[in-house]
Amino acid sequence: MEAREFWAKTPSQHILVVDDEQPVRDFVAEALESMGHEVETAVDGRDALEKMEDSDFSVVITDMVMPRMDGMQLIRYLSEHQNEVDIIAITGLAMDYKYTDVVAAGASDFITKPFTMNELEAKLNRLIRERHLREELERLAVRDPLTGLFNRRFFQRLVRKESIRAIRHQHQLFLFFLDIDRFKDYNDQNGHQAGDELLVRFAAVLRQSIRKDVDTAFRYGGDEFMVLLPYLPLEQALPVAERIRENFGQLLLVPTSLSVGIARYLEKSVSIDDDIGDMISRADQALYHAKHGLGRNRVYLDKESAV
Ligand code: GH3
Ligand code: MG
Repeated sequence: MEAREFWAKTPSQHILVVDDEQPVRDFVAEALESMGHEVETAVDGRDALEKMEDSDFSVVITDMVMPRMDGMQLIRYLSEHQNEVDIIAITGLAMDYKYTDVVAAGASDFITKPFTMNELEAKLNRLIRERHLREELERLAVRDPLTGLFNRRFFQRLVRKESIRAIRHQHQLFLFFLDIDRFKDYNDQNGHQAGDELLVRFAAVLRQSIRKDVDTAFRYGGDEFMVLLPYLPLEQALPVAERIRENFGQLLLVPTSLSVGIARYLEKSVSIDDDIGDMISRADQALYHAKHGLGRNRVYLDKESAV
């Protein structure tokens, strides 16, 4: 998105308006709809939680004093269980709650009755812009700018998560360590720019060869890449690596080819971090063997992972 476009428009949100008084509810809902947002309403906190089970909202605007479950309880519940949603609290003038109370409970902002729709719109737009900025920063922080793949920093975070999940669900987790063969020569013969283009094309091959939303590919640095593949038995992991190697080979970017080292996560010690380090190191050694033992353009599985 262009920067200008980003600041000019606040994109349409899915908003839940929670208030026990119907006139207020309808007034706020209609006004938000006229600003282009998609709006649903709930009559109290409990009703709101039910509505939130059925669909995703990015913003909740809630009254404080309501029967069954009041605004404060709703805000507390959401900030514990649902940290994706932004909350604006509507507080009365005869206040039982202070600004600091609602913010401490997890609201992003508050507005005091009586308020004009302009005031609400201003607060809402600020929230939306901050959310987008936050998301953009998060996206940039975990991506490699050249290939758009996840970076090494995100690998470190995700490998930990996937390892914990693999232990908990007792499923297999594989790691591919990939390195382009003779990439230096390719750079020397064709220039650094062409080398960059090769990396971009390789990243596309990686994306196309793995399961969307299950496997994850990373640029680890230079011409080194990683792929994490959970929920996959060995008989299926090996062909995936072979397919990546072959698909890259079909691009005919001489003199390059691809070497891959594979390791499986093994519970060897009491420390997850040690076991992760061990998996990475076994994948690295397998890669080294694929290159220097087998002469490149090969996939090699670490011996310990084979059983
Ligand atoms: P091997 O077959 O043993 O893997 O040798 P190689 O020629 O691929 O060399 P190696 O993996 O040791 O080095 C990777 C080279 O990749 C070195 C560096 O100049 C180049 N490189 C690293 N990052 C980039 C990049 O972002 N763009 C380009 N064009 N080249 C890069
Ligand atoms: Mg290399």
